[in-house]
Amino acid sequence: AAKVSNRGGVLQFDRYSLEQAKGRLELLKNLRAAFDQEQLFLMYQPKIDIQTGNTIGVEALVRWPLPNGDLVSPGVFIPLAEQSGLIIRLGEWILRTALTELRSLNENGWPRLEMGVNLSVAQLQHPALMDMLKAVLSDTGVDPSSVDLEITESIAMRDMERKSQLISEIKALGFKVSVDDFGTGFSSLNYLQKMPVDCLKIDQTFVHAVNEGNGRDIVELIVTLGRKLNMRVIAEGVETEAQANTVSELGCDEVQGYFFAHPMTREQLHDWLATRSH
Ligand code: C2E
Ligand code: MG
Ligand code: MG
Ligand code: MG
Repeated sequence: AAKVSNRGGVLQFDRYSLEQAKGRLELLKNLRAAFDQEQLFLMYQPKIDIQTGNTIGVEALVRWPLPNGDLVSPGVFIPLAEQSGLIIRLGEWILRTALTELRSLNENGWPRLEMGVNLSVAQLQHPALMDMLKAVLSDTGVDPSSVDLEITESIAMRDMERKSQLISEIKALGFKVSVDDFGTGFSSLNYLQKMPVDCLKIDQTFVHAVNEGNGRDIVELIVTLGRKLNMRVIAEGVETEAQANTVSELGCDEVQGYFFAHPMTREQLHDWLATRSH
């Protein structure tokens, strides 16, 4: 609610909201233009098998470069794309681009490499989702079992029955499905019970705190939960050797984070893969 301050706060508040709204509209206009001009690109961050050190796959992360070279964070523009509906076209482009890259990697020396792609809840709710997934699969010719669709639980979709049915349909196409940012927001035990997912990605906040306070117990609990439910468990956001050691001890299957590798361009990824055993 608007607060009245001594200096005519209501008016100031309204002006501020208006400025914010204008700012968002401006940002959206620029995002659409950047997308239409094919300026957006994907970076790829490796996911590593914690026991063997092998690279299991990569996660595609979208980037929006500004004319001055700065990158706008997807944390800022994905929500904007979701609210405006642009996410439908943008999300299809992301999936198509990531799977095209996967096909190329699979055919050029990395046959078992997997690709993680983030799916927004707005995409999940779109009536043409299944048709889009089938079209991209048939156009790119990749094996869907090497594609991991990462879904973040959110308030936007409370209808669990519908959502678990959708996830079953996605899995029936052959895709893997992961719960992203597990432990935050709206992912709950109730959710896990109903969702036929393959993998839990422990949210970075828990991974960063794994050697502090009760952080270790929390991660251990998530790993145990994943084990019981026959899911793989990934620790994301691993930044230090100490964090890597602890999540390894606790039995996480895979790790992802700056300690192992930052998100990279496709060219950087090719170089990076070439230096590693597989
Ligand atoms: P996410 O899917 O959970 O991705 C992990 C985020 O953590 C990425 O941020 C990644 O760059 C960052 N990260 C990786 N390792 C570390 C680390 O060791 N420390 C820290 N502090 N961060 C690390 P990014 O790329 O800015 O993406 C933020 C979020 O935006 C993603 O979270 C995802 O929810 C969304 N997003 C990114 N790309 C896409 C996309 O293509 N489609 C959709 N729908 N959402 C996307
Ligand atoms: Mg993700
Ligand atoms: Mg996420
Ligand atoms: Mg995450």
